[in-house]
Amino acid sequence: MRRKLIAGNWKMNGSLAANAALLAGIKAELAQPACDVVVCAPAPYLAQCKAELTGSPIVWGAQDMSVHEFGAYTGEVSTAMLLDFGCKYVIIGHSERRAYHGESNELVARKTARALSAGLTPIVCVGETLAEREAGQTDAVVGQQINAVLETLDASALAKIVVAYEPVWAIGTGKTATPQLAQEVHAVLRAKLATKNPMAADNVKILYGGSMNPDNAKELLAMPDIDGGLIGGAALKAEDFLTIIQVA
Ligand code: PEP
Repeated sequence: MRRKLIAGNWKMNGSLAANAALLAGIKAELAQPACDVVVCAPAPYLAQCKAELTGSPIVWGAQDMSVHEFGAYTGEVSTAMLLDFGCKYVIIGHSERRAYHGESNELVARKTARALSAGLTPIVCVGETLAEREAGQTDAVVGQQINAVLETLDASALAKIVVAYEPVWAIGTGKTATPQLAQEVHAVLRAKLATKNPMAADNVKILYGGSMNPDNAKELLAMPDIDGGLIGGAALKAEDFLTIIQVA
């Protein structure tokens, strides 16, 4: 049985004061969560996460990282820096990185390999646009996205990744995939993972992301291949995030 994982993606939101209130609100109600919980903060706030969350059941992570190890890459943040600030997870290939920062399947695959070699757990995001869904290309698109990652991994490394299925048309739009529709894609993704390593594929957590909220979380999380959520907007409100964690 896969333990569920609820991951908050704060995106480019927050401030020292707002984060302190949010983290205090979450911590106060989460003595022993029955699922894994992670918050992925903007890089400048990772030190704050470390200070506020050390010793709590909540772990923290980043929203992106450099594919390079160190050196003359202005503006980039390395895996070693994330480790210095206690990160355990890093989101890779979020659709906003793919769309606004030109991240290709190949770069996402290389970043995934680098995260793994540093000992970070990558949350690898895949998902189709509305136009791709309407053209019947969903399985092909997510298949290409995940295959690019699988091609660079050893079969044994598969057990160390988390996958997030995030239909682009559902992110931040209030439109959620129906549980059945999400389950279909999650099953396709698990079948792809199984071609690499059938045993490990059974244990890989596949999260759903895209307007998950306290009202729709229960039905989504009840699906057999939905192992948790990658939560954007609802992760910025302690009450909503806690409700989703409780449902999980
Ligand atoms: C996300 O940013 O990964 C996300 C799923 O956002 P939202 O929950 O706001 O749709």
